[in-house]
Amino acid sequence: MNAGILSYDDADGMVRSHAAQLLARTRRAETVPLPASLGRTLAQPIVADRDQPPFPRSTRDGFACRSAYLAESRTLRVAGHLRAGEVWTGPALESGQAIEIMTGAPVPAGADCVLMVEHAKVDARAVTPMRALKPGENIVPAGAEARTRTTLIEPGARIGPQHIALAAACGYETVSVFASPRVAILATGDELVELGQKPLPHQIRNSNSYSLAAQVARNGGIPVIRPAVRDSLEASEAAIRAALDCDLLILSGGVSMGKYDFVEQALAGLNAEFFFTGARIQPGRPIVFGRVPSQNLYFFGLPGNPVSTLVTFALFAAPLLAALAGQTAIGPDFAQATLKEPAEGKPGLTRFLPASLESSADAANIRAVPWQGSGDQSAAAKTNCFLVVPEDVIKLSAGETVTFLRL
Ligand code: AMP
Ligand code: MG
Repeated sequence: MNAGILSYDDADGMVRSHAAQLLARTRRAETVPLPASLGRTLAQPIVADRDQPPFPRSTRDGFACRSAYLAESRTLRVAGHLRAGEVWTGPALESGQAIEIMTGAPVPAGADCVLMVEHAKVDARAVTPMRALKPGENIVPAGAEARTRTTLIEPGARIGPQHIALAAACGYETVSVFASPRVAILATGDELVELGQKPLPHQIRNSNSYSLAAQVARNGGIPVIRPAVRDSLEASEAAIRAALDCDLLILSGGVSMGKYDFVEQALAGLNAEFFFTGARIQPGRPIVFGRVPSQNLYFFGLPGNPVSTLVTFALFAAPLLAALAGQTAIGPDFAQATLKEPAEGKPGLTRFLPASLESSADAANIRAVPWQGSGDQSAAAKTNCFLVVPEDVIKLSAGETVTFLRL
């Protein structure tokens, strides 16, 4: 059972190697209406059914004309008018002529550029350009964005609004997506009471089941919240057995060295393999990752302290869940920002400190927030990310470019 305590990088590498194996699995797919596919994982390629754009498209409101003829103050005669959804059926455009054209309309034969209306002096039937244009300006040629029959989105993409836009443009009313993994959520702890109950002074409410359910849903899984598990070996074993039909098992609490921490022991009783039983991170050190071979079922035993639970899910469980869902890009979701106030490291531990990120179009600034440690949910709720302090760093200084983890 004692598989060892790994550095953050090694623990991450371990999860990634299992995620890579998971991606090779065949998985069930289902067909859903396109608007319902948001957040699901694409199980089929999205293929262009025609060239995109299907015709040379004007990208501006203005005047289609010939660039060779265009020079400042050389007047063009307006030969006609064309809006999106229409096609020019008049004679081919000649030098000295222009056709008034709207954004999205097909550029008529003979024209090779579109003079923006903002760059023209317009009279009743004539247009005087205020600048010269190069061939192709303000026109997207037919097929420049995509060619008929080419694959535009590969299976394994997590479907976002941009994918829905393109699938709609290609005529997909429905798409095939992978079945979402069902994730069993088991909170352990004798001190826990459920939301409808009034806690006695020495009890606390079970919040982890709900934060985990939110993280599962956000990362492409279906949360299956099980009743909280008492701190005994029998109760832990029974609860784990009852959850073996799910695709991933997430436990919270009961993985420390306390006298009433039974999660590892219960899993070992099911002949579980353990890939690591801790990581040199803070918060979140007592994290357990393994698999029940008989069911080919992966599990995470996450520490019960609520901030540790949030961080360890984002670091390790979210990427594995993404791979289970068939996603090819699995995270975790790191990015960079400028540190606004110094932050302390703990050599030997990679720290993930609750932090608030303020970003604008030209700056991303981050600062760690004061907190009382890994049980401090109030501090975590004031934040939107975790500042990463690498294990070999004693102190990060203000002004440094630092890495943060998005939830
Ligand atoms: P454990 O990991 O079981 O030793 O728990 C560590 C701390 O997290 C203790 O203070 C627990 O009361 C708290 N805790 C454990 N499970 C939960 C939960 N489901 N919701 C909120 N707090 C929890
Ligand atoms: Mg406990």
